[in-house]
This record gives sequence, structure tokens and C-alpha cells, in this order.
Amino acid sequence: MIISMKAGASKEQINHVIEKIESYGYTAHPIYGDERVVIGAIGDGRMKDHIQSLESAPGVDSVMPILKPFKLVGRELKKERTCVRVSEDVEIDSAHFVVMAGPCSVESREQLMTTAHAVKSAGARILRGGAFKPRTSPYDFQGLEEEGLKLLAEAREATGLKVVTEVLSDANVSLVADYADILQVGARNMQNFALLKKLGKCDKPVLLKRGMSSTIKEFLLSAEYIVSQGNPNVILCERGIRTFESYTRNTLDLSAVPLLNELSHLPVIIDPSHATGKRSLVIPMAKASVAAGADGLLIEVHPNPEEAFSDGPQSLLPEEFDELMRVVRQYVALENREM
Ligand code: PEP
Ligand code: MN
Repeated sequence: MIISMKAGASKEQINHVIEKIESYGYTAHPIYGDERVVIGAIGDGRMKDHIQSLESAPGVDSVMPILKPFKLVGRELKKERTCVRVSEDVEIDSAHFVVMAGPCSVESREQLMTTAHAVKSAGARILRGGAFKPRTSPYDFQGLEEEGLKLLAEAREATGLKVVTEVLSDANVSLVADYADILQVGARNMQNFALLKKLGKCDKPVLLKRGMSSTIKEFLLSAEYIVSQGNPNVILCERGIRTFESYTRNTLDLSAVPLLNELSHLPVIIDPSHATGKRSLVIPMAKASVAAGADGLLIEVHPNPEEAFSDGPQSLLPEEFDELMRVVRQYVALENREM
């Protein structure tokens, strides 16, 4: 339910409504807008009539049901777009277009440092790199684990870039959060509900990738798992879905971007590397991402893709990443946005 307070409602009136909501066994999610306060009351529906009766409480303007299944990440409750603040100087939202780039896997200090310096000088703000790798085959490289996290932290020190890296299980959330600025949930884990709940209790932003066979509704409900546990800082990432097409690794669902922007207030980024699986398609799809209204990109870059431990065929060389940034900067300016 959405309880809209009147413009100018007092702190006492707001607190009274929050206390009432909680006394009915619901959780209260106040959103402090420029003009008025809106309070989301989330519960299982049994005390719906009690919540409805708050309409007559002092300072309350209206009480309305939230019709969509995703309550907190949807736009019914919160109209203003969410800005995910990664640090003092890195924000991801509709005003700030952010590029995250780096290797698929952290392989060695030399590989990571070379890539980090290259993407930094091209204008990326965030370094990506997997330390825990979700691989289809158990015989493939599984990542350097904590040693990889340490290298990422070292690269952050050396370059000033922020770090995003994947967390594979709820058991590793606090370890990864000790090193990373953003915790990535991979496509294969989008519905790992224990992991999502744990991330909801974490104070770091979460980059949530769309599952390879997930609908938009399932994707937003996974984001809802995180936000409903108390962490509002979720970035949605479209990374392609599985279709019958086999020339590409996945099929980039570009329409997911404007659709997610209609349905949700969370920032949306695109990963054209995993979406296509082909180096030659990454720049065209990066351009299309900006035009579709994405708030950022996640790009794989490797100094020597032929020898990459994972995802070489879709990784850009540093000079190709330079070109991507040059082109994307023009598109971002065309959309009147900052980068
Ligand atoms: C990755 O970002 O390296 C990755 C494994 O991506 P996805 O979960 O989208 O397959
Ligand atoms: Mn990869």
C-alpha cells in the first residue's frame, strides 16, 4: 500500500503513521521527496483494511494499493529515479552515465594492472574483474578467489578506479564486500534467493544481472528481494537472454532498457560483451545502449584476448576500448547527459 502524506505533514504525523504500519506487522518504507513524504507499507495483505483506515490519520492525503508485484523497486511508490552513489565522486543515475570495464577474470597482477591503467586512461570510472568465476564447466578456471580480490584492491589504489566484482554465494558476501565497491550478482545467480537476501543486508551497492532465461517481472522481483531487506542501492544489468539464435552468444534485449525505465526507478546498465559474445558487435551495441536510455555500460577488456582465461572472443583490446569510449562519449552528449 502507498500512504501519501500531505505536503507539509509534520514529523510527528509521519512517525505516527510509520508506528501504526509496523504495529500491523507491515514494514514501513518512507520515501522523502522534495514536496511530500510517501510511505510504502509492505506486508502479506491480511491487515490491508487496517492500513486503508490510515486514510483518516492526521497528515495523510491518500492510501492506495500497489498493483504491481514488485512493490519497492516499482515506480508506483517512487517516481524519482534512484541515484546509486558508489563513492563521493561516482554516481550512477539518469544524469551520470558510467562505464565499468576490465577483464572477465582477474588472472595475474600484470594482466589486471595493465588493463586497469588502460581503461582508466580511456575514461572508465569502475574496474570490473571476476575473482570468483561462475563457470559452466567445473574443469574451467574458477578464479583466483581472495588473491584476485586483493589484486582488485591494489588496482583501485593504483588507479583511483572503483571496483565491481562478482559474489557467488551468500557465504562470501562479507569477504567480497571487504574488497569491492559494488557486488555483482551474475546471471546464473539472479534467483539465488539466499544470496539476494544476504546482499539486502549489506551496505554496498549491488549490480544485479538479468538471468539468461528470466522475464522482466522475475528480474524486478529479484531486485525486490534485495531492496526489501533494506539495501536500496541496486543497479539492473541487461546482459542478453537465451534465444534460438546461435551466431551470437545471447540476444541483447534492448527494449528491456526503456521498459525497465518505465517500470522501475532503479538505474539500468547494459553489458554488450556477454550479450553478444563477439568483439565486433560490442561497439555497435554500446552505441545502441546509450540511445535506448541506459545509464551505463559493463565492458570486457583484455590486453591479450587470445590468451584470456575466459571470454577472450568478446573482450576488446585496450585500443578498441579507447575507440568505444570516444564514440560513446559523443552519443552520451547527444542525449544531454554527463559521462
Ligand atoms: C561476467 O560478468 O563475467 C559474467 C559471468 O557475466 P554473466 O553473469 O552475465 O554471464
Ligand atoms: Mn565474462
